[in-house]
Formats: sequence, structure tokens, C-alpha cells
Amino acid sequence: MTYEQYQRKTCRYCDTPLGRAFLDLGSQPLANNLPRKADAAKPEFHCPLAVVKCPKCHLVQLTHSVPARLMFDEYLYVSSTTQTFRTHFAEYAQDVRNRLSGKEKPLAVDIGSNDGLLVSCYDKAGMCGVGVEPAKNLAAEANHRGVTTLNRYFGEETIGEIVSKYGKADVISANNVFAHIDDIQSVARNVRELLADDGFFVIEFAYLVTMLEKMFFDMIYHEHVCYIGVTALGFLMERFGMELFDITEVGTHGGSLRVFIQKKGGSRRQRPVVERFLREEKEKGCLEATVYRDFAARVMSFKSTLNGMIAELKKQGKTISGYGAPAKASTIINFCGLTPREIDYIVDDNPLKQDRLIPGRKIPIVTSAHLNDQPTDYVLIFAWNFAGEIIAKIQHLRAKNVKCIIPLPEPVTV
Ligand SMILES: [Zn+2]
Repeated sequence: MTYEQYQRKTCRYCDTPLGRAFLDLGSQPLANNLPRKADAAKPEFHCPLAVVKCPKCHLVQLTHSVPARLMFDEYLYVSSTTQTFRTHFAEYAQDVRNRLSGKEKPLAVDIGSNDGLLVSCYDKAGMCGVGVEPAKNLAAEANHRGVTTLNRYFGEETIGEIVSKYGKADVISANNVFAHIDDIQSVARNVRELLADDGFFVIEFAYLVTMLEKMFFDMIYHEHVCYIGVTALGFLMERFGMELFDITEVGTHGGSLRVFIQKKGGSRRQRPVVERFLREEKEKGCLEATVYRDFAARVMSFKSTLNGMIAELKKQGKTISGYGAPAKASTIINFCGLTPREIDYIVDDNPLKQDRLIPGRKIPIVTSAHLNDQPTDYVLIFAWNFAGEIIAKIQHLRAKNVKCIIPLPEPVTV
């Protein structure tokens, strides 16, 4: 099979021709398309997973684009499944509400609203929340719970529908989804179109510099097409007549930014933090190639460290399971070549993931009850950003000498 049809020749933000990848994670299956156990023998779609930096706007992005229809029709990630996310989005909605204090009942549109968690928080914070979500199952679930959700891609027609029904948006949000959309220029154009002149656009995304510094390379998978820094984002917004005016740092996914954007010349004053981020990215070398080459070298050394550690445990006759089957688990598993020979099973309590397998390597996903019944000697925590919660949850097993491995920033046993 040829992948040329999926190759991205120009930058997603500024259309500059792209050069060579600085990091190649090999040909990988789609991290969120978990095959059912019954389909274990069916071939899976694979595509190169590699990252390149634009020489002009400095956006870090994938070298290939997998068509959205192959990835997002049935999406298994549900944001409401953890308490951490519920608390996070309640705070997020309140932050947005506070910035619109003069408005009676502001219209808040969330793009890629998943199962409607943030939209329901907008409603609770006294706003009129509307979600836009292309995955059928998630949109249906949100509407079923009374959270207004349009089952659409965020295109011109959707905007027309929102404007005619509700008017222009006082706030538009797009969270991790902003890094997941391939044709982001049309999103930027459409956001500007839907936004009221005194409104603002807010996005939250896993920060490029955190990925580089903390070695979170497992956030690289096909659905996640861009790895956003403030420099590149400022460049994109400038092109579409918008500007950054505020940035706050948030803790989800181990280091994200919440960035606030308005139409150019809008009423909000740019806070000094925006300049600070731009300066820091330059000082840290994020506009040069060396930083990325070093990162790639560290990723390669991670692979040999983790594989060496696992090989040693297997030699001692130890059993290993995994904890958590988020998309990033698939990246580590496929990059390191882990199979059911190394990892007996992976527990994940998301009901949508039951009876399924890790893409490519076919490690079975089971409920956490399985770990209680058949504990392994070691538990490799793929959902490492929830390591604290997970370790507390399996304290009774740790009392029986079950050990945990936290893979990143470098593999450690605890
Ligand atoms: Zn660019």
C-alpha cells in the first residue's frame, strides 16, 4: 500500500512546503480505533507516524493526514469518565463566564464537544451552551442527557444554522480538538465568522514545549495532527484577522495551555504573558532544529530503556499488565513493539473499550476487576497522567507486592 495520498506536503497553518521529519515512530494503526475481539484477525489500517516542523511558522505537525472519516465517526474517548475532567471543565466554564460578566446569558459554542461535558458546564454557569460534535454516538448521548449538541463537522452550514437559531457566539471554545483537525485554516475562518465582535475564542491544548521538555512523545498519534506552540498559533490567528490576548497554564494531560483569542483590534488588552511565552519559546530554541533532534534522540533511547526493563522482568518470569488504554497507550505499545507476550492484558473501566484490543498489537482490554482476580507482578501505567489516582486505587494489590511502572518521562518502577 502507498501512503503518498495521505502525505502532507505543505504546512497546515501557513502553506509553506514541509521538509523532512525529525522523528519517525514507524507505520502505526489508528490509536483510537480499537478492534473488537471478534475482529482480531481482520487487517487494520496503518499509516506512517512521523513529525515535522514548519520552517516558517514553526508549527510541529504530522507528515501524514489520515482522512477524518476513518477516525471520528465512532469515537471511544468519553470526557466525563474521570472526576479530574469533570472538575476541570466546571472550572473552565466558570473562567469563561467570569470573562463575560456584563452579558445576560452569553452564547457559548463548543467545537468537538465530545459527550457534552463542557457544554453542560456552560449551562450550569448561566450561559447558553451549544455543542458541535461529529461523532454520532457521542452527540446522541449528549442530546439524550439534555445537552444541546449538533451532530456535525464545524463547517459553514453548521455556522449558518447556529447564527440563524441563536445569533453570533459570545464565546467559542475548541479544546484538544483544535490540534486534531487537519483543515484548521477553515476552522479559524469559520470561528471568526461565528464570533460576535466583542466575543472571544478560547482553546486548550497540550503544549508543545511541555511535550519536548517532559518527553511526552506518546501524545503523538494520527488523530493529533498538530503540536501547538504559542509562536505558531499567533501566526495562524494573525493570518485570519485575530490575535492572542491571554494565556493561562493548566494541569490536564500534564501541561496544557488555555489561550484566549479575539478579533484583531478587539476591546481586550493583550496581557504581558503572551509576549513572555513568545520570548521563552525563542530562548528555548523552539524555532531551531536542534531541540527537535535532541527530543527524537531521547525518544529512541526511551524505547531501548523500556524494552530492556521489560525483557529483564520477563527473564525473571514476572507477569506484566497495563493500566489505562488511552490513545497514547497505542503509541507506546506500537512504537516499542509490545504484544500479549509481554503485556497479558490492559485494564480500562471505560465501558466503550470493553471487549476490544489495543490496535496493531492486539493486547486485550479488560475491566479493573480482572486485575483484582488475576493480579500481575507489575502494572505498567499507560494512563500515567492519572498515576496518582491509579496507584491509590490499587493500594490493596500493592500491599501484596504488586509493583507499578510509570513509563514517562522515563521508565521507573514504584
Ligand atoms: Zn507553517
